[in-house]
Amino acid sequence: MASDLNIFPIQALSDNYIWCINDGCYAVVVDPGDAAPVIESLNKHGLRLDAILITHHHADHTAGIQELTSVYKNIPVIGPKNSKTKGLTHLVAENETVSFANLDMPLRVLEVPGHTLDHVAYYSDTALFCGDTLFCAGCGRIFEGTPEQMWSSLQKICSLPDTMQVYCTHEYTLANLNFAQAVEPNNEDIQTAIESVKQLRSAGLPSLPSNLALERSINPFLRADIQENWPFLEKHTQQKVANSVSAFAAIRGWKDKF
Ligand SMILES: [Zn+2]
Repeated sequence: MASDLNIFPIQALSDNYIWCINDGCYAVVVDPGDAAPVIESLNKHGLRLDAILITHHHADHTAGIQELTSVYKNIPVIGPKNSKTKGLTHLVAENETVSFANLDMPLRVLEVPGHTLDHVAYYSDTALFCGDTLFCAGCGRIFEGTPEQMWSSLQKICSLPDTMQVYCTHEYTLANLNFAQAVEPNNEDIQTAIESVKQLRSAGLPSLPSNLALERSINPFLRADIQENWPFLEKHTQQKVANSVSAFAAIRGWKDKF
């Protein structure tokens, strides 16, 4: 990523972040679930919209496309192939590289089905835009895929470097950390993260981006393969845990009712 690039969140809907990648002149926005805050923010910062990136078809990630493309004409709307999203102009698949007309930040595509079947993530050397697949200390609900798919999508994300900054699309961190603490009551990294996120939130700041090193140490879904945690998990969920996927499914089921 060019060093003069900046990434900031545009708050939208109840708890969405629309990430705005920009060089001070041109901007690319990720998952605009609402057009109005994007237009307001681009105007405020004097930015021209270069492209829209979409990770998956849910309305809180796509509902702003129509209005944005009527205001900013002829910009590419890039999203996954086989998506229900209306208004996509460029379809992408695993391992493709996305480049923009003006903003110098080529991104690679990862297919990460599970939350939805069309879900993709985009990443540079330093930044990952993962939509609703990975959250800080959490992961998306499995609406369309299977636990096997979601686990393997998270494993794919985990193959990226520790230093990768993780730009998630919802401010769910504190609730996720409270759950993480229930799953791993003795994990001191989770306690430390709770304290630092509470400070950020009480100062009105986002808890994001996260990074993959932190996620590996606090995210119960990425830690589902730690066998020494399985007896505790079995006791709490009353589910048989025989491998990483069944551990992941048990943690996901527990979180859905938490
Ligand atoms: Zn979603």
